[in-house]
Amino acid sequence: MKIHEYQSKEILKKFGVSVPDGRVAFTPEEAGKNALEMDKKKYVVKAQIHAGGRGKGGGVKLALDPAEVKNIANQMLGMKLVTHQTGPEGKIVKRILVEEGADIEKELYLGMVLDRSESRFVLMASSEGGVEIEKVAEESPEKIFKEYIDPLTGLVPYQARKIGFSLGLEGKVLQKSVKFMLALYNAFILCDCSLAEINPLVITTDGNVIALDAKINLDDNALFRHPDFMELRDLDEEEKLEVEASKYDLSYIKLDGTVGCMVNGAGLAMATMDLIKLAGATPANFLDVGGSASVETVRNGFKIILSDKNVKGILINIFGGIVRCDRVAQGVIDAASEMNLKLPVVVRLEGTNKEQAEELLNNSGLSFKVATSFQDAAKKIVEIIK
Ligand code: GDP
Ligand code: MN
Repeated sequence: MKIHEYQSKEILKKFGVSVPDGRVAFTPEEAGKNALEMDKKKYVVKAQIHAGGRGKGGGVKLALDPAEVKNIANQMLGMKLVTHQTGPEGKIVKRILVEEGADIEKELYLGMVLDRSESRFVLMASSEGGVEIEKVAEESPEKIFKEYIDPLTGLVPYQARKIGFSLGLEGKVLQKSVKFMLALYNAFILCDCSLAEINPLVITTDGNVIALDAKINLDDNALFRHPDFMELRDLDEEEKLEVEASKYDLSYIKLDGTVGCMVNGAGLAMATMDLIKLAGATPANFLDVGGSASVETVRNGFKIILSDKNVKGILINIFGGIVRCDRVAQGVIDAASEMNLKLPVVVRLEGTNKEQAEELLNNSGLSFKVATSFQDAAKKIVEIIK
């Protein structure tokens, strides 16, 4: 689960990670009032969306007094913010963070993430902060320092010091950065994060080490251990159709293609997407309707797929292991006629009662194309939509 920068900073603060003084606001008035109460020499107003690159897109602005904070908030709230992470459609800004402005001497990068190939958490750092770290990793990987963390010992202070030295830090700043890294590690582990990224981590002109930006992702599989985190979820930031699908217990991920897929089983769904690609089109979604697809799940699946305006045709690929193919076929027919489905549908059913299922589909009076094999199904739907 993704959360906002201000929420990440509130969590990190509790673990002793130093963050700038700041408050969230939902209206320009609130933003102005926050600034007045905070009473700082200068402020930063930051758009809160679940995407980075806000600085370049106009989502991070400096202000000198509360009146200016209010003005900037007025322009920022409701604006469509486009960054390299939002895609061209952008995101509407509904919350902003009013923060004390920092005097920056140096911008660094610090990140904690799970390295699956090493089966370890890794603390990463770079002196190239404030920029896209992916670019640094690609163009000059030698500028990224890594410390893999032994799960038995956790992050050990000497590892943090090593990173600090690599970053060229010394004296008090080095000490502060070590404290910062250890606190970040604690927060990461105790909150079951899957990512904690501080970009930039800054050294201020007066020698402090603070998280100027903070991005935390929480591990969905561990959320049950943190019931209070549930209220951090912001449905406005999530894909509408995915939220809708989760209400029906469907595993649905929206993609950019034109072939809607309805499949039972995650592995089969992945293979179906591959075959659509191979046949020359792109899938509009991943959809696993589960092992026991009923009329109800098929209907809900159709509903979700059809809400995606990019979909030009639908491929249904069901393996009748637990479910019987004729039941699924009846579900498809009922749902399609009930919903007055106009898009071309190719159906491939394999397994128990497959013959009865084909008969039902062929005699339904609806224009389903029944495919004989997996490859055939992908080829047929791609031919039809082209
Ligand atoms: P992102 O672009 O979405 O990653 O947003 P960030 O929070 O990382 O801000 C982008 C950039 O804005 C930073 O790299 C800084 O250069 C600048 N910035 C953010 N806060 C401050 C601040 O308090 N003072 C100054 N001088 N610059 C800031
Ligand atoms: Mn950033």
